[in-house]
Amino acid sequence: MNSTWGRFLVVLATWSLVCLLVRAVAGPVSALTLFAAGLLFYALMHYRHIAALRRWLQDPKPEAIPPGWGVWDEVFADLYRMLRHQSQSESRLTATLKDFQEASAAMPDGMVILDARDRIEWCNPKAEEHLGLDHARDRGQQITYLVRQPRFSEYLQSQKFSEPLVLRQSRGPDLILSVQLVPYGERQKLVISRDITDLERVETMRRDFIANVSHELRTPLTVLGGFLETITEAKAADGELMRRSVPLMSEQARRMQRLVEDLLTLSRLESSHSPLREEPVNVPDLVRSLYHDACALSGGRHRVTVELESDDWLSGAEEELRSAFTNLISNAVRYTPERGEVVIGWRRSGDDGFFSVRDTGIGIAPHHIHRLTERFYRVDRSRSRETGGTGLGLAIVKHVLSRHKAGLDIRSEPGRGSTFSAVFPAERLLIPRNREVVARSA
Ligand code: ADP
Repeated sequence: MNSTWGRFLVVLATWSLVCLLVRAVAGPVSALTLFAAGLLFYALMHYRHIAALRRWLQDPKPEAIPPGWGVWDEVFADLYRMLRHQSQSESRLTATLKDFQEASAAMPDGMVILDARDRIEWCNPKAEEHLGLDHARDRGQQITYLVRQPRFSEYLQSQKFSEPLVLRQSRGPDLILSVQLVPYGERQKLVISRDITDLERVETMRRDFIANVSHELRTPLTVLGGFLETITEAKAADGELMRRSVPLMSEQARRMQRLVEDLLTLSRLESSHSPLREEPVNVPDLVRSLYHDACALSGGRHRVTVELESDDWLSGAEEELRSAFTNLISNAVRYTPERGEVVIGWRRSGDDGFFSVRDTGIGIAPHHIHRLTERFYRVDRSRSRETGGTGLGLAIVKHVLSRHKAGLDIRSEPGRGSTFSAVFPAERLLIPRNREVVARSA
C-alpha cells in the first residue's frame, strides 16, 4: 500500500474514532452529522486543490505552482520536479541543436536531408550555396525540382550510391561538385556536396602538362631516332651523311636539354621545400651584366641599350632574378627582327621599382596577353621553336616574380613591339647608403 492510501486510511480511521466517541457521548445522530461534515470538508479541500491545479494548468510555469495541503503538497512538489527536469532537458536539447546548427554552418561540405520520397527536410548553408537551395523556402520540396540536372535524377533513382557523382553546376563560375548520397534511417537520405572545382582544375592542368611535355619531347626524339636509323642502315660509313646529320642531332639534343632544364627550374620554383633565399641584389650591376649577355645573344643584329635611372637594389634571390630577367631579354631578342631595338631599363616610379625590357619586335595581339604566362602557351609555335623557345620562359618569370611579391606588366602592340616590366613593391627595394644598403622605409 502506498503512502497516499495509508494517509487516507489513517485520517478516515481517526475521524471514525472521533465520531464513535461523540456517539458514546452525544448519540448516533450527532456522530453521523459530524462524520458527514468531516467528509464534506475533505471533499471541499480536494475540490479547492483541483480548481487551483486547473487554474495553474492554463499557464503551467514551474515558479507559479500553487501551494498544497496534505497529499496535494506532494502532488504539486512532484509536478514541480517534473517540470524542472523537463525544462533542463529542453535547455540541453536547445544547446545541442544550436551546436549542431553552428557546426553544420561551419561545414565546408553541403548537407541536405531528404525524406523517403526525396523531399527536402533540412539543408545547411553550404548546400544552399552549392545547389541553389533556400532552407526556409524549399523545405518539403522535391529535390529533383530544384536540382534540375538529368544526371542527378538518374543518380537518385539508380540507388547505387557507392561512388559520388561529379556535377557541373551552371550557377557560379564553373562550379564543379562531387555529390554523394548516403541512405540512413527509415529510407531517408543524406546528400553531401563538395566543391571540387580546384581539384578538377589541377587535374586538368596536370593532364595538359603531361600531354604538352610528351608532345615537346616527341619531335626531337623522332628526329634523333630517324637519323640514328638512317646511320645504322647505311651500308658503309657515309661521311656526307654524318656531316649533315650530326649537327641536326646535336640541335635536337640541345632542344631537349633546354626543355628539361626549364622544367627543372619550374619544379624547383614551385617546390614548397625551396623558400626564397633573400640577399641584397645589386640591380644596377646586374643590369650591366645582362646588357653584355643581351649583346652576345643578339650577335650584333639589334641595337641594345640600357636606361639605368635608379641605383636602388633589391632584396631577393639573385640567381632567380637573373634567370627571370634573362628570359625577358632573350624573348625581346628572339621576337625582334634584325636592326630592331632592345632597351633594358631599371627605374623607380612612385614607390615601386620597375625592371623593364622594351623591344621594337613583332608585338602580341591583345587577346593573347593574359595567357602568355601559361606553361607552353605560344602565340606562334613554329617561331618559338625555330628560335630555341621552350614555351616555359614566361611561366618561370611569373613564378620568380610572385616569389618576390612582384607583378608582371605586359604592354604590346602587334607590329610595333612590346614592353615587359617586372614591378617590385616598395618593401623589396633597398637604398645604397655609405657602403651598405638599407630598406627604403629605414
Ligand atoms: P617561348 O619559349 O616560346 O618564347 P615564353 O614563355 O618565353 O615561351 O613566351 C611565350 C610566348 O609569348 C612566346 O611563344 C611568344 O609568342 C610570346 N612572347 C614572349 N615575349 C615576347 C616578345 N618580347 N615579343 C613578342 N612575343 C613575345
